[in-house]
Amino acid sequence: MTNQPISGNDLARFAGPGTFMRLPAATDGSGLDVAFVGIPMDHGTSWRSGTRFGPKQIRAESAMIRPYNIQSGAAPFDGLHCADIGDVAINTFNLAASLKIIQEYYTALLGHEVIPMTMGGDHSITLPVLRAIAADSGPVALIHVDAHADVNDEMFGEKETHGTVFRRAYEEKLIIPEKTYQIGLRGTGYSADDFTEAAGWGFRQVQAQELWHKSTKRLAARILKEIGDSPVYISYDIDSLDPAYAPGTGTPEIGGLTTPQAMELIRGLRGLNIVGCDMVEVSPPYDPSGNTALTAANLLFELLCILPGVPYR
Ligand code: MN
Ligand code: MN
Repeated sequence: MTNQPISGNDLARFAGPGTFMRLPAATDGSGLDVAFVGIPMDHGTSWRSGTRFGPKQIRAESAMIRPYNIQSGAAPFDGLHCADIGDVAINTFNLAASLKIIQEYYTALLGHEVIPMTMGGDHSITLPVLRAIAADSGPVALIHVDAHADVNDEMFGEKETHGTVFRRAYEEKLIIPEKTYQIGLRGTGYSADDFTEAAGWGFRQVQAQELWHKSTKRLAARILKEIGDSPVYISYDIDSLDPAYAPGTGTPEIGGLTTPQAMELIRGLRGLNIVGCDMVEVSPPYDPSGNTALTAANLLFELLCILPGVPYR
């Protein structure tokens, strides 16, 4: 019998444990197919902070999500054994030390053959997660949904921040450049060629304006075909969405994706060999309605629904 979230018919949704979707808690990945993990930190950010409260708020808003995805037909908890394994004990005074702690944590976690579903935290957390995943699976295909390419060389002389993640991942050969997709890019830059250098490495970049007023189904179908059987990591920066949908984030950019576009994209990626996902940059202090964390929780559920082994009804 696989773990099930507590039903809202057995215990009111505003009661019960603070785990993701009120799943059982566990202390490590043993016996699990999927582990929800929080990384509560924000010292990799360059503008507004607050993502240290992201995991707690995503979990709180996730309490309303019911276990069946009526629209897509997915029944994730009928096929996958899931639990919330809590938060990584980062060092809130030291970013570099925190990234090492995260890498060690994920290296140990991946010893259990579990798929990590990570709640950030700012985007700097993805680098140590990718280091652990690449050591385990080799270089992975990457689907990176974000307003920003996060390919700076350094910020204030620092090589490991939320804006440098995917240049480091490329340099360290953690990802397959020709199977790296950056979706939702937009905003202003420091130079006209801010995006083109990474395109030269092989990254496939899809700017938000290419998707304006369109369905994302065709894009998803193309990515599905091109990635094929390669192991894939999905890194989801909530600022890929328009601030109208997700205002509670550190570096908002106007003209972003809509919530239906995000859902279509994720649902269209079903069939990939996904080895891990993250949902980052949710900043509750800038999210007074809770809508950003609610959206992040539901997109995380949509990602769960496309993992290998999920039955469809
Ligand atoms: Mn980012
Ligand atoms: Mn971003």
